[in-house]
Amino acid sequence: MVKRLGLFVGGVYAEADGAYYPTIDPATGTVLAEVVRSTAEDVDRAVRSAAAAAAGWRQIHPAERGRILTRIAAAVRAEVDELARTETLDNGQPLSQSRGDVEVAARYFEFFAGAADKLHGETIPLGLDYLSYTAYEPFGVIGFVLPWNAPLQQAARGLAPALAVGNCAVVKPAEDTPLSTLRLAEIAFECGLPPGVLNVVTGFGEDAGRALASHELVRKVAFTGSVATGSEIMRLAADRLVPVTLELGGKSPNVVFADADLKAVARSAWTAFTLKTGQICSAGSRLLVHDSVYDEVLGQLTQRAVAASIAPGLEDPDLGPLATADQFEKVQDYLQLGREEGAAVLAGGGIADQGELKRGRFVRPTIFGEVNNGMRIAQEEIFGPVLCAIRFSSEEEAVSIANDTRYGLAAGVWTRDISRAHRVAAQLEAGQVFVNEYFAGGVETPFGGYKASGFGREKGVEALRHYAQLKTVTTRL
Ligand code: NAD
Repeated sequence: MVKRLGLFVGGVYAEADGAYYPTIDPATGTVLAEVVRSTAEDVDRAVRSAAAAAAGWRQIHPAERGRILTRIAAAVRAEVDELARTETLDNGQPLSQSRGDVEVAARYFEFFAGAADKLHGETIPLGLDYLSYTAYEPFGVIGFVLPWNAPLQQAARGLAPALAVGNCAVVKPAEDTPLSTLRLAEIAFECGLPPGVLNVVTGFGEDAGRALASHELVRKVAFTGSVATGSEIMRLAADRLVPVTLELGGKSPNVVFADADLKAVARSAWTAFTLKTGQICSAGSRLLVHDSVYDEVLGQLTQRAVAASIAPGLEDPDLGPLATADQFEKVQDYLQLGREEGAAVLAGGGIADQGELKRGRFVRPTIFGEVNNGMRIAQEEIFGPVLCAIRFSSEEEAVSIANDTRYGLAAGVWTRDISRAHRVAAQLEAGQVFVNEYFAGGVETPFGGYKASGFGREKGVEALRHYAQLKTVTTRL
């Protein structure tokens, strides 16, 4: 008998209006559980539950809110084995990466727990006749619409600062990966979060996602996902004039100069496009390499690709299956397109379907060489383990190719020349630049996009300000 999970509203699982649908293991096709395809009525119930809890939650002393978040961090950490297993079964990623995500989720709650009582405003000098000050206040109800590539980590990334500031939340996880978010909500209530402060509506974008983004009581929408859906969410929010945070896609350049530590480059550039089987918005999916070291860097990366293990996530391979059926199709289309556009297939180039892999959505790590930045495979986000390698011959050319994209989420720079590192970092159009280690940083470092990669910032103290609205109070004395 498959487990059924209802709507998570008011701190309990409730019966729903919507029908149930299965969530499946992308490595084997096995049904893991059934969850609700929430309707607009279900979303309305969840939002009203959050709205009813909002006044009480914002009045709780910030230090006490912080204590509750601290307990959530500890409880998440204590459940690392079970949560990681749930995540790997639901979205397919290698088990050690799921364990890493559980730790990161715990760190978000820990970090923002400590920050809950430190978000203070300023006094503004207006002379002796006035007292003027600013204060940060919560919005009320925040609607979160989230993707499937790092479900637990992304839920924690938004929820921890939003709750720390005193907001209530309704989360819609991606249709394919609802299980870890539901468990996180249960844990939060076991740790003393008042009923209604955090609600989860599972289901699909066109009904639950749309209903949440357009609900009259939702005062801010935080969205992570594709550019097309981000634009749609912004249009829905524009009708009600509510702000949005958009964390969208990327086609991030990883730029290798001739004086870089090439061993470190090969290690890190590999992780940059294969972590989470390449399904990561800030993946270093365009590798720009100086002519003089191109063959050496690509040779090392190709060796890694050939030796990489591919298996169901629970076996903790280098690469697991792609998380969704749509994504599996999409990546295969791009593998075909790369050939048609004339790129050289240095490694991979197809699906992995021998033996037990037949049942899942496995793709070989693929390296396209001699890519021209004008090709579609260099301009469009593939969101799979596919690297496009591009040559350059001068610093100026490297910067120009790096910035020749609609996206601006992340960029890597590899050089031993500290002046060049910062000169190039200053010219790159990206929300974060990693020097000499791709993905350098942590929950403490602000994260978000330039250009079509979105706006607003998650992570770091900066995130608190994005989940708060600023009030100015000025008094004539
Ligand atoms: P998606 O946009 O299809 O879905 C994201 C979420 O939006 C899901 O919960 C979905 O149900 C919902 N949704 C879909 N249509 C909707 C609509 N019309 N109205 C309201 N909600 C709707 O994206 P995806 O395929 O799940 O995720 C992949 C994309 O997400 C990639 O482009 C990737 O770069 C991006 N991403 C960005 C970040 C980041 O932090 N910047 C992180 C992860 C993924």
